[in-house]
Amino acid sequence: MTAVLQQPSGDTQKPSEPEAERATWLARAAALPLPTNAIVDGSEFSAGDESLPVIGPRDGNELTRVFAGDAAAVDHAVRAARVAFDSGPWPRLSPRERAAVLLRLADLAEQHRDELALLITLEMGKPITHSRDIEMRAVVNCLRWYAEVADKGHGEVRDTDPQALALVTREPVGVVGIVTPWNFPLTLTMWKLAPALIAGCTTVVKPAEQSPLSVLRLAQLALEAGLPPGVLNVVPGTGPVAGQALGLHAGVDALAFTGSTATGRAFARYGADSNLKRVWLELGGKSPNIILPDAPDLQRAIDTAVWAFTFNSGQMCTCGSRLIVHRDVADEVVENVVRGARAVPVGDPLDPAVEMGPIATAAQLASVRGYVDRAVAAGARLLTGGSHAPDRAGLPAGGNWLEPTILTDVAPDSELARSEVFGPVLAMTVVDSTDEAVEVANDCEYGLAAAVWTSDLSTAHTVSRRLRAGTVWVNCYEEGDMGVPFGGFGLSGNGRDKSAHALDKYTELKTTWMQL
Ligand code: NAD
Repeated sequence: MTAVLQQPSGDTQKPSEPEAERATWLARAAALPLPTNAIVDGSEFSAGDESLPVIGPRDGNELTRVFAGDAAAVDHAVRAARVAFDSGPWPRLSPRERAAVLLRLADLAEQHRDELALLITLEMGKPITHSRDIEMRAVVNCLRWYAEVADKGHGEVRDTDPQALALVTREPVGVVGIVTPWNFPLTLTMWKLAPALIAGCTTVVKPAEQSPLSVLRLAQLALEAGLPPGVLNVVPGTGPVAGQALGLHAGVDALAFTGSTATGRAFARYGADSNLKRVWLELGGKSPNIILPDAPDLQRAIDTAVWAFTFNSGQMCTCGSRLIVHRDVADEVVENVVRGARAVPVGDPLDPAVEMGPIATAAQLASVRGYVDRAVAAGARLLTGGSHAPDRAGLPAGGNWLEPTILTDVAPDSELARSEVFGPVLAMTVVDSTDEAVEVANDCEYGLAAAVWTSDLSTAHTVSRRLRAGTVWVNCYEEGDMGVPFGGFGLSGNGRDKSAHALDKYTELKTTWMQL
């Protein structure tokens, strides 16, 4: 400390460590080659003049332009995937051979961890330490996990008449379309891609238009890892053009989608209006986080509640956006959650000390602010945040900045209590009993995740059973590993990502009945 204070002022002053690291990341970003073309049938592909800008949320500047796929480009990719499935080697390899390719890709992703993390941070604004240490770790773990389960499945021999032999086996479903959002560009793609590939399927990925760079780079690495041409095709483009073309394509056997509930409804229609492809939907959420008076460590519950709505700038399908607090501890919780929110280091995502970056796009920022303004107009009380940019030195101009925002007195039937905001906005509700907490938590059409904080074993079990959600956390938030399924009830979708259960989405059951 003294040494720093004794540094001479002016140009010769040594930058602090995070500042030096930020400068290093900035220099690396300036030198980074950015992918711009689709990957189809093992090669880079583009056609025509249509391109999409990729705008960096930290300063609003255009990073690059990428090829914008249209229906013809999607058709080209689906045909390549079809040929690779019908006559290519991939579905015919042994599970261990497919696993070897996934393991090589995991190694390459690890070797290129900083580069991929930087692409994620540049394109959607996640703090660099989170891109590198959370998202990239999840991507590598996912690849290795599915490589490990490759040959651990088994079919069935049913008990039948002795004159028969009945086998029940699983086969790859075929060509899988994958459409993903921008909030975790690589993890969410990998949660679908890895099980689809290990099952023997071939794929066409349509990344979000806001964040195509990391997925395109990963596809280049997949070719380097030895994935045969046509097995992984990536076509960037807009949702209404490329996404819709993939959803409606009769050559796609299953479509795995992660995104908003509104777009999920569109994909359900695409399936119905085309070849009745299997449509798997991982959609939005409005997750309740219940703090009861017997929470084992109230300070931990408070710190976690802050993290649950500010991590990834609240752009989480599982964002802990509804804090339901028992009146007995409400004053203490409200005061400290507000204090914690104000202390979150918001800033340039290339600064390693930053915990919350910008909102991913200007349109998303405007949408989040709209929810806050309408909630205040409807009578909710703003406790902190709102539309202010954080007062922090070194914040790049032109970024999509928003402080963590907390509102209370949010009417249970109001827009803010029921709609997914997808930003760092917390709606607080005070309740008088555990029953009321469960009632408020379940009074919502979404059912992705929920949490409860209690020391009582019976309360933990009974509340968990009563909560309508695909995941319930007890005395924690956002915990889990690759072995547990993830997905939602109600408007949060169908099917499950992660775990061996995800393989069900990418395989068909076949019965072979032999008369002996
Ligand atoms: P979005 O629905 O707008 O877009 C997701 C993808 O769908 C993008 O690739 C987009 O190009 C495409 N798309 C958009 N409109 C389309 C259309 N009409 N036809 C075909 N494709 C279309 O969602 P978003 O804003 O990118 O992501 C945020 C949403 O994703 C939130 O609702 C969030 O909860 C959800 N999400 C869910 C999970 C989960 O696992 N349940 C995980 C992360 C995000």
